[in-house]
Amino acid sequence: MTGARPRRQPRPERHALPGEPVIPPAPSTIDLHTHTSRSDGLLRPSQLVADAAAAGIRLLAITDHDTLAGVRDVLDAGNVPPGLELIPGIELNAITADRPDLRESEVHVLGLGVDADDDELEAALALQRRRRRHRFERMVQRLRDIARPIDDALEALPATGDDDALGRPRVARAMIAKGYVASVEEAFSVYLSRGRPAYVPREGLGPVEAIRAIRAAGGLASLAHFSEAPQRLDVIHELRDAGLGGLEVYYRTFDAATVEAVGRVAAEASLVATGGSDYHGDLEVYAATHAALWVPPTVEAPLRAALAAARSATTG
Ligand SMILES: [Zn+2]
Ligand SMILES: [Zn+2]
Repeated sequence: MTGARPRRQPRPERHALPGEPVIPPAPSTIDLHTHTSRSDGLLRPSQLVADAAAAGIRLLAITDHDTLAGVRDVLDAGNVPPGLELIPGIELNAITADRPDLRESEVHVLGLGVDADDDELEAALALQRRRRRHRFERMVQRLRDIARPIDDALEALPATGDDDALGRPRVARAMIAKGYVASVEEAFSVYLSRGRPAYVPREGLGPVEAIRAIRAAGGLASLAHFSEAPQRLDVIHELRDAGLGGLEVYYRTFDAATVEAVGRVAAEASLVATGGSDYHGDLEVYAATHAALWVPPTVEAPLRAALAAARSATTG
């Protein structure tokens, strides 16, 4: 008998619906985007790595804004937990003045695997931090001007030094302490976002300069939480041509459809997929954030290859 078997129809690929949450199929072992008290996070660096290790993370990047102090704190104290690999990282909020249509006219660039002892990078970060402090003081002044002083509440927060990167969440926390707002989100939406009364524009590096600074220090530059990527291929292509090597595909608050769409952009643009929680600590403990984080293990091998290539591009 030669009766042909009915040919099996290829099953259509199931696509996520908008708003559908990402359900982690297993606990993530990778988190490449976290903040400590050295920038605008709440946990001390050694506490963050301990909590991440306890939650099952094996590959962790601390990516504080404009400072490597948190990475150095952990390394200098010998506090890398057994079984956890710490990647030195930074996050640069880069100004896109030529693209005012982007959210707050900025994009965020992660620098993964940068050399924490690179003098040129440190000089660039120190300048960024001075600009942050200046902006911070102007925001505090604006709040005084509108009868929302936070000076005493700021004094009650942990002190900061030149190594620390000040940000709006610190302003927001002081506003909560004063009873002006109930949450960091409310502080941003009512007072601190662009167009709101205490907003002060950022000064600092543009994205191309940020990517160059990261690469010169042996790091891999990855564009963070850019959910607009599928609609903004112009930005993706321009930054890739400037040396961008990665795209943050697995971002904790992306819905499943966004992860798919941003993942397609990364694949088509030959950018390595990175992923992380962007944990700051305001809303919940690390374990709770981790429970909703999905960074698949398949991220690791291409990431390691890209990190090695980025390193050898400066040392070779
Ligand atoms: Zn960011
Ligand atoms: Zn971040």
